[in-house]
Amino acid sequence: MNSPSVAIQHCETYDAKELSEALEQVCKIAALPAVKDKKILLKPNILSDAAPDKAITTRPEVVRELIRMLYAQGAAEVLVGDSPGISGPNFSPKTSGIAQVCQEEGARWVEFARDPVMHTIPGTYGLKLPLPTIRNEVDLIISVAKMKTHQLMYATGSVKNIFGMVPGLHKSACHMHYPTRESFARMLAGLYAVIKPQFAIMDGIISMEGSGPAAGEPRHTGLLFASADPTALDVAQAIIMGYDPLSLPLIRELLNRKLTTWHTVEEITYPLLHANSLIIPDFKRIKQQKKTRLINALIGPLFTRYFKLRHQRHEPKPLFDPMLCIGCKRCVKICPGKALSLDDNHKVVVNYKKCIRCYCCHEVCPVDAITIENALEQSV
Ligand code: SF4
Ligand code: SF4
Repeated sequence: MNSPSVAIQHCETYDAKELSEALEQVCKIAALPAVKDKKILLKPNILSDAAPDKAITTRPEVVRELIRMLYAQGAAEVLVGDSPGISGPNFSPKTSGIAQVCQEEGARWVEFARDPVMHTIPGTYGLKLPLPTIRNEVDLIISVAKMKTHQLMYATGSVKNIFGMVPGLHKSACHMHYPTRESFARMLAGLYAVIKPQFAIMDGIISMEGSGPAAGEPRHTGLLFASADPTALDVAQAIIMGYDPLSLPLIRELLNRKLTTWHTVEEITYPLLHANSLIIPDFKRIKQQKKTRLINALIGPLFTRYFKLRHQRHEPKPLFDPMLCIGCKRCVKICPGKALSLDDNHKVVVNYKKCIRCYCCHEVCPVDAITIENALEQSV
C-alpha cells in the first residue's frame, strides 16, 4: 500500500520551464511508479471542452508537460481520454487545446464512448455502468484533475475526475438513481473502487472558485499537486479551499469504505508544502447544506420518487436567466429529471416538480445563464 503523502509545490505560471520543473519534482517526491515501457492513460478534466482561461478544464500546458515527462522517462505509449457529459463517440477536445497537445506530443486521444463494457458498481444496489475497455489495456492510469469547487460535491478532485470515464449521457442517469450528495458519493466511491488510478496530479495553478465546476471564477492559486493516493490529494485540496475534508461527502465515503491509504487526515504527510500552510481563507466555497439523514440516504435509491420530493424541498434551485439563454438545448439534453424544455422563444422553461437538483444543467451551459440560488458561503 502506498504511503499517504501529497507533494505540493508552488508553480506560479503555465510557463513550460517552470511547469516542467515543478511537475518533475512533485511526481518524484510523490513516487510516480516506474513508467519505462508502460502504456499510460491520462484522464484530464474536460468537463465541457471550454477555452483554457475559463479554468473549467485541466490546462493543456499541464497535459503537454506531463506527456513530455512520461516519454522522457521511457513510456511506451501515452493515451489521453475523457468523455464530457453531452459528448458523442467522435468527441475531440479542440477548444480546451488538449486535442492539439495530443497531436503535437505524440499521445493518442481515446474516446471512452467507444466499445464500453458494463460493470457492476460496488455499494450501489447493483448499478451497472458502461466503462471504457481501454482501461484494461493500459499499465497505469493517472488522474490529471483541476482544482475546482463543485455545486453538488462542494469540491471536485482527482477521485471525482474518474466519473468522466463513464461515457457521455450515462453519467446523468446516475444522478437520477443517486440524487443526494451522500448517495452520489456512494456511487462515486464504488466507481473509484473499480477504476483506481495509480497516481493523481492536480492543476491548481489557476483554480476555479465560486460556482464550480463550470460557472465559477478563475483564481490564481499557484499550486501543483501529486500523490500516489488520489484520496489524499483530494483531502489536501479540501483543506486549502478551507473545507473540513471529512465534511465532504465523497471523502467521508471513501474513508468509511476503506478506499483510502489513511485512517485519519492527520496521517497524511506533505514532504514539500503542507496543506495547512496553504489555506486560502477567502476562497469562494460552495455553501454546505445539511447532511441528508442516513435513513434517507439509504432508502433513496430504492424509493426514488418519494425521496426526490423530500430531497428537493431543502436543496437550492437552479435559476435560469432568459436574457442570457441562447437556446442551445444543452441543458435540456443532459437533464436527467426531464425537467427542462424550450418555449416558443427558444428560452428554457423549468418544471421544478421534476427537478432533482443535480445541477448537470449548470455544468453544461456555455453562457452561464444558469445560477444556483444561495450557492456560495456568505463569509467570503
Ligand atoms: S433542471 Fe438542472 S438541476 Fe434540475 S434535474 Fe434538470 S439538470 Fe438537474
Ligand atoms: S444550456 Fe444555457 S444557453 Fe443553452 S438552453 Fe440551457 S440555459 Fe439556455
